[in-house]
Amino acid sequence: MVAGTVKYTLKCLKCGKSYSEDHYICSCENKCDALLKTVYEQKSFTVDESYQGIWRFHQWLPIQKIDQRLVDHGSSFLTYKSTKLAEHLGLKNLIICLNAYPHCHTGAFKDLEAEVTFQRVMNTFDSGKPLVMSSDGNNAISFVYYSNVIRYPIFLFATEDARLRRIWSFSKSNPYTRLFPIEGDYFDAINLGNQFSNVEGYLSEGGFRNVARRDSVGTMTLDVTRFLGHLPDHYFQALGSGPGAIAAYEAAERLILDGHYGKKLPKIHGSQNYPYVPMYEAWENHSRIIDERFQK
Ligand SMILES: [Zn+2]
Repeated sequence: MVAGTVKYTLKCLKCGKSYSEDHYICSCENKCDALLKTVYEQKSFTVDESYQGIWRFHQWLPIQKIDQRLVDHGSSFLTYKSTKLAEHLGLKNLIICLNAYPHCHTGAFKDLEAEVTFQRVMNTFDSGKPLVMSSDGNNAISFVYYSNVIRYPIFLFATEDARLRRIWSFSKSNPYTRLFPIEGDYFDAINLGNQFSNVEGYLSEGGFRNVARRDSVGTMTLDVTRFLGHLPDHYFQALGSGPGAIAAYEAAERLILDGHYGKKLPKIHGSQNYPYVPMYEAWENHSRIIDERFQK
């Protein structure tokens, strides 16, 4: 990572407009309903063994350097070849990326997304502006955890029920988190968070539109490819709002461009469990539209 050189740009998948890495941008200025994708200058896949966990893949993470506190408190996952589950399922080559405590400090893979997001924002001119987000679960817990590690402010909108029952922290005091409990449902929390993130001086964290979230989860595809020596044939992922599946797709595209790991995209299998099944429903209905009641 050399200061002064361009490491990556962000490209709108609809209009093609490119954005520099200098700002924390999550949406195209032309109001395109499309994602921005990270385009890395370096096209060859590298694993930097001088780092631990996902930081080994820093060449394909949207960051410029790695804060020592995030190295010391880095979250990761364990990649291994399954024997018992593989046998139970009748599979010969089942590789598992296990996201769990203690590899992920709070027990969820959202830790990967939080640590890279904080590093991303700190490497832009927007550094210092509070990140505004809404979450009722693991995202909130991971972002609270890493806001303490890295001492970066977040404004978190969640339901009162989530505050009481689900959101927790290892620390008694969380001076970098402003939590806004909402008396209402999760969609009220999301709406208020979205409105607040438009206030001057604050940043919308971006959710699935945030490339740090997607590229951090994409390291699972990178690691399994490192493990196998080639791209996997199939990729299974539980889906919340979908960034994991998109991330696997984007990482596989980069690996194909490298040229050493195969030419075929893995078949990506998404799964959701009831009652939160917006993508499953849309898929079953052959629709590209997510039902209103699931929409953010
Ligand atoms: Zn655009």
